[in-house]
Amino acid sequence: ALQLLGYEEIEIKNKFVSLVFPNIEDIYKLDMGNNNSFETDMISKNNDKIPVLISSSVLLDNCGDKLGTVLIFQNIFEIKQIQNKLKENNDNLEKRVQERTCELSTVNMQLAKQINEVLAKDDEIIKLAYSDYLTGLPNRRSFYYKLNQAILEAKLKENSFAILFLDLDGFKLINDTMGHAKGDKLLKKVADRLVDILGESDFIARVGGDEFLILINNTTSEQYINKNCENVINIIKEPFQISKNEIYITTSIGVSIYPEDGEEVEELVKNADIAMYNAKESGKGTFVLCNSLIKNNLDELMKLTNDLYRALENNELELYYQPQVNTITGEVVGLEALLRWNHQSLGLVSPNVFIPIAEKSGLIVKIGEWVLREACIQVKIWQKLYIPKLSIGVNLSVNQIISHEIVNQVSQILVETGLNPKNLELEITENILMKDLNYIVDILKKIRNLNVRIAIDDFGTDYSSLSYLKELPLDRIKIPKCFIDGIDKNIADESIISTIIILGKKLSLGLIAEGVETDSQFQFLKAQMCDEIQGFYYYKPMRSE
Ligand code: C2E
Ligand code: CA
Repeated sequence: ALQLLGYEEIEIKNKFVSLVFPNIEDIYKLDMGNNNSFETDMISKNNDKIPVLISSSVLLDNCGDKLGTVLIFQNIFEIKQIQNKLKENNDNLEKRVQERTCELSTVNMQLAKQINEVLAKDDEIIKLAYSDYLTGLPNRRSFYYKLNQAILEAKLKENSFAILFLDLDGFKLINDTMGHAKGDKLLKKVADRLVDILGESDFIARVGGDEFLILINNTTSEQYINKNCENVINIIKEPFQISKNEIYITTSIGVSIYPEDGEEVEELVKNADIAMYNAKESGKGTFVLCNSLIKNNLDELMKLTNDLYRALENNELELYYQPQVNTITGEVVGLEALLRWNHQSLGLVSPNVFIPIAEKSGLIVKIGEWVLREACIQVKIWQKLYIPKLSIGVNLSVNQIISHEIVNQVSQILVETGLNPKNLELEITENILMKDLNYIVDILKKIRNLNVRIAIDDFGTDYSSLSYLKELPLDRIKIPKCFIDGIDKNIADESIISTIIILGKKLSLGLIAEGVETDSQFQFLKAQMCDEIQGFYYYKPMRSE
């Protein structure tokens, strides 16, 4: 103890214990029972605090009376130091843990925030990818997805559904005249109205500028589809209030039905689209069902093709003749033979309808031969009777020219009828130039070697290229009606006509204007020195009688 406290024995003997115990009160306060132990500080001679562990024992006399207390102390400085160190470490550790926890929770919060942001963006992206920004409706991608599901479901349940392809009529005009902002507003309102009238199981999407697709589920009958289409058409017909304007618009609808009009997404949409175009053609503001349309068209085409096969045998074909008049003298110098079909039940069928059928079915070769022979026979008769140098124009279709028989046909008919080849003019159109040019030129040269003349019909309306004028063996240019129609109305048409005439003259080609209907058209052409004219102004095509 002396060593620990730094005292000499003499300095400390018989002194109060308070000398070495600064907190002596604590000791007195204690219930000094046996084997009590506690920690306290002692003070050394140098005033250093020394931590000690005190054990106390009460000292009793023989009678059991308390004599005093024996305190035994033990230096616990090192233990304390270690304990402190441990505590410090512990505290540090706790602090570190707390700090890390704090950091982690901040990181966690940041992460949560980022995740939320990403999720929100994902939502946005998904929304953008599957919906239309303007109307908020689903977009094409979304519709196709839905349509695919509908197909799978209908396959399983063996039921059917319809899709409606809507296109607003004349929307472009509204956009152009009233501005895009108002056009956009109109589209939104159209979308709202459509959503309002649709059933719960129906699905609508905006798939293009003014195009909407609607899926009508569980279609039980054609009447049900018709009713739906009528509802849509009627709801769009009602005026729209856009700012201060009342806008009227209509919609055309094409309908395709699963599975009749297609079993795949693309096919169904395509057929509805085709039907929609038919609705537009048949006057807009209406709807057309694809199946009826295709069926009708196919039926009609099949029937016409069959009938056309018999037309020749049944003498239903007839040639009309339209005179060609010299502009200066007013004399008829030639005729164009124009084919007519007197159909038993349909009446007079336009060549614009049946020539394409004849071409597709290959019948054109036989029909063309008949036309050529008939026209040559007829003109020969008129030559003998009235105008010795009367010429005849006969239209040749491209399939005739590439049929290999044409050169033989022409030369044989000329021999048969005795017509001077110079009085026969074969009219070709620019679409022959879609075929192998070298081959066509070869055939035309062979025909021309027979001294037959060749005219280019409807010049400048199709695949025109001025270089063809150089390559094709030609005698005459026919200026088409579409340019003649522009005389007095459109300076561009007049310029084109003047230029074609100058060009023709420079190339030593004859010129004839087609579809001349009015006196001022005639006067213009005469002033431009066009050689001949053909058109209702003088004569319509007419029967030989
Ligand atoms: P295209 O060769 O351009 O015949 C001129 C068409 O214009 C004829 O119609 C004629 O009737 C019409 N036309 C003539 N002048 C006027 C006029 O002043 N006003 C109006 N509005 N129309 C006029 P069409 O007879 O209906 O013939 C249509 C087309 O059918 C012809 O056009 C021709 O490409 C083709 N076609 C006619 N006959 C034959 C033929 O025998 N063989 C071939 N391959 N095609 C033919
Ligand atoms: Ca013609």
